[in-house]
Amino acid sequence: MTQRTAERQPLFHPQDRRRVLVVEDSKTFSIALRQMIEAETGLKVTSCGCLKDLSHAILQDQEGYAIAVVDLNLPDAPDGEALDWTVSHGIPTIVFTGTFDLATRARIMEREVFDYVLKDSEFALGNLVSSVKRALTNRETRILVVDDMTTTRRLLGQMLTSQQYTVVEVGSGADALTMLEQDQAIRLVVADYNMPDMDGFELARRIRRRYPAEQVRVIGISSSTDRTTSAAFLKAGAHDFIARPFVLEELQCRIASNAETLLRMRQLHDLAWHDYLTGLFNRRYFFEKGPKLVAEAQRAGQPTCVAILDIDHFKLLNDEHGHNAGDDALRIFAGHLSDSLDARPHLLARLGGEEFALLLPGMREADAAAIIEELRAGVAGRQIFVGKLALRLTVSIGLAEVAATDSLDLTMRKADRALYTAKQAGRNRVQA
Ligand code: GH3
Ligand code: MG
Ligand code: MG
Repeated sequence: MTQRTAERQPLFHPQDRRRVLVVEDSKTFSIALRQMIEAETGLKVTSCGCLKDLSHAILQDQEGYAIAVVDLNLPDAPDGEALDWTVSHGIPTIVFTGTFDLATRARIMEREVFDYVLKDSEFALGNLVSSVKRALTNRETRILVVDDMTTTRRLLGQMLTSQQYTVVEVGSGADALTMLEQDQAIRLVVADYNMPDMDGFELARRIRRRYPAEQVRVIGISSSTDRTTSAAFLKAGAHDFIARPFVLEELQCRIASNAETLLRMRQLHDLAWHDYLTGLFNRRYFFEKGPKLVAEAQRAGQPTCVAILDIDHFKLLNDEHGHNAGDDALRIFAGHLSDSLDARPHLLARLGGEEFALLLPGMREADAAAIIEELRAGVAGRQIFVGKLALRLTVSIGLAEVAATDSLDLTMRKADRALYTAKQAGRNRVQA
């Protein structure tokens, strides 16, 4: 059901206590890198200037390293020995190098590194930090690999796993569709063209018919030399195409750019439906989702109740303590409401200002009134702390039940009239 944080996804988990390992002999680079990584990821950095420090850091380590950034050339490890250390200890690694040629590339690629970044411009540091962030966010992206050939499927799965993605594998188009139904967290499908039961084009078309593009993106793959294959994949609704045999960097970049687009779309979606101040759903979401919940309940022959909650004399609080204190009070009030409601199905939103709406599906007015009276008493009986100020709020609430054939809009008007009555009658009360 709809809860305050239902559609939120944290970029990084604050409880993640692992560290980022930086192996770099230039002090200036190392300090700048540490500051940027710590500021942008919230994770702590362990810095090592040579191989000896690195071996010590790995032995001392308690929580594990989320990712390592390794300079290929160190005074006591001129041939990439530091890279061998991090890779052999299972730490996903980003190589940072000033020298780059085909032999270096081959050496890096052989070790299945997460990424490499060249020290070739003023953007190098920024690129490196972006790569670290990507390594941390990739874990949130679930990718479905669809290929009937076990060996090529495994190989691709392994490449994506080394990119820190969470990978699910299936061997046919039909299994892919079933898996998408079962695992709603899958965001990206990488599908081979040539499969016996259903080819990649048909799979892309079926996925497109069932899921909007902001939910599932498809990337086609094929070893065909016929260049129209990629066009046909795109026409069938895929977002991208990667030719086999893979050039690893191309595979990484295309997958990463699709994963990033998905993440950005989710963030936009999230912003559009939520109130920036309290994190609750906003008015737009309430009037988008509310009528659907009402209709669902009506089809099941069940009642729905709605309430409008308006904080009493809120203007006074602003006038006496300032707008920032008012904002804090709104945030605390909203948090208290959603915590009190967490256990039951509900839709809670901030309609605007100090006015909130609550929808309780499947509930009769008498039951809703009891719950809402408890909410009101909970607010009135609680001190809230805004900085050093201890304040008390009260709230007036208008309640109404959606009749069998009524609309949400009409019932909201009833609840609004009840709220007016509650205010007139002295505030700090529930009126049905
Ligand atoms: P009543 O008991 O009749 O509801 O009185 P009230 O003062 O709560 O109601 P009124 O509608 O007169 O004033 C609401 C105030 O809420 C006015 C406005 O300054 C304040 N307000 C609206 N939005 C925000 C906000 O986002 N932050 C802060 N701090 N105040 C807000
Ligand atoms: Mg008010
Ligand atoms: Mg008001």
